[in-house]
Amino acid sequence: MRLRATATDFIELFNLKDLVAIGGYLKDTKCRYFVLGGGSNVLLPEIYNGLVIHNSLNGVDKIAEDEDYVIVEAMAGEIWDEFVSYTLANDWFGLENLSLIPGSVGAAPIQNIGAYGAEVGDFIEYVKIFDIVDQSFKQLKPQDCNFSYRNSVFKVKHNYIVIAVGFKLLKKANLNIKYADIAQYIKNTTEATALDLRNCIIKIRQAKLPDPKFIGNVGSFFHNPIITRQDVLFLKQRYEDLPVYDIDDKFVKISAGWLIDKLGLKGYQKNSISVYEKQALVFINNGESTQTEVLTFAKFIQDMVKSTYNIDLTIEPIIVSKD
Ligand code: NAP
Repeated sequence: MRLRATATDFIELFNLKDLVAIGGYLKDTKCRYFVLGGGSNVLLPEIYNGLVIHNSLNGVDKIAEDEDYVIVEAMAGEIWDEFVSYTLANDWFGLENLSLIPGSVGAAPIQNIGAYGAEVGDFIEYVKIFDIVDQSFKQLKPQDCNFSYRNSVFKVKHNYIVIAVGFKLLKKANLNIKYADIAQYIKNTTEATALDLRNCIIKIRQAKLPDPKFIGNVGSFFHNPIITRQDVLFLKQRYEDLPVYDIDDKFVKISAGWLIDKLGLKGYQKNSISVYEKQALVFINNGESTQTEVLTFAKFIQDMVKSTYNIDLTIEPIIVSKD
């Protein structure tokens, strides 16, 4: 979000030996800490009283393969989209729908990153962590990671430091083109390749989303609300054109961006924060904003949505508190 933010202490992590030393220090001093990846999904306070550990563990390795699958391990500090590009260059498929998501490999399981009908959790074979509590290295199976919609065990277990992720990828592409934006470009999965799909997603994202390298933003600012079928019937009476996506027998998903857009808030600005004019689910920082200003702006949008639709919007990025 390009917020003005300073930490009292900062360390860059390059190897596992140093991680053991840092782990010992954190346990002994009980010092506050958090692990920073690419910084693309966090809302940082003006002053962070504690240690920021920037994960720069690098490397990618093929671990195993059979006729159908390959297991590839990437260290947490690898840049996510470079890793996706590398897998496709090697004809390892599955991650193409997650192209151009900013951030690092280590952050991917934390948020269970997802886009265009794919979630990273579906391709994870294991996650290697260092546990600060018992000072040991562990390998978690997907079922230990509690992956759900943009969520995982790592959002609650702050003592787990992700060091590497093992992915189970396909050797034969199985293209997922169910989202309308993609289906517009790719009509036929027998002719298109996974690289075509990646290139199409890159184009769509570049047209719709601000590049965090140049414009401060954290991607989607709110989760898409999951509501009951009963509640959606009520909303549909007033908003016939509300898009609704099935979850299961009881619940449906609606688009938070649509709700905000319908309120006429695209482009709405207060101080240096505004709702991005091409995508209402994204806030952009046009100047020197602080976390407090962003959260005040978010509260205004949440209140508008609540009073109009009776829907609670939950903030998606991680809010790092001062103390
Ligand atoms: P979009 O295509 O305008 O659709 C709006 C919302 O409706 C999406 O958030 C999506 O939910 C849902 N949706 C659309 N088609 C769907 C379908 N066929 N089945 C189920 N749900 C459907 O969305 P967008 O803003 O351009 O984003 C495209 C994709 O990239 C989405 O998957 C979005 O989540 C992802 N993305 C994520 C971030 C982030 O920061 N987390 C930022 C930008 C984009 P889902 O969000 O559940 O897919």
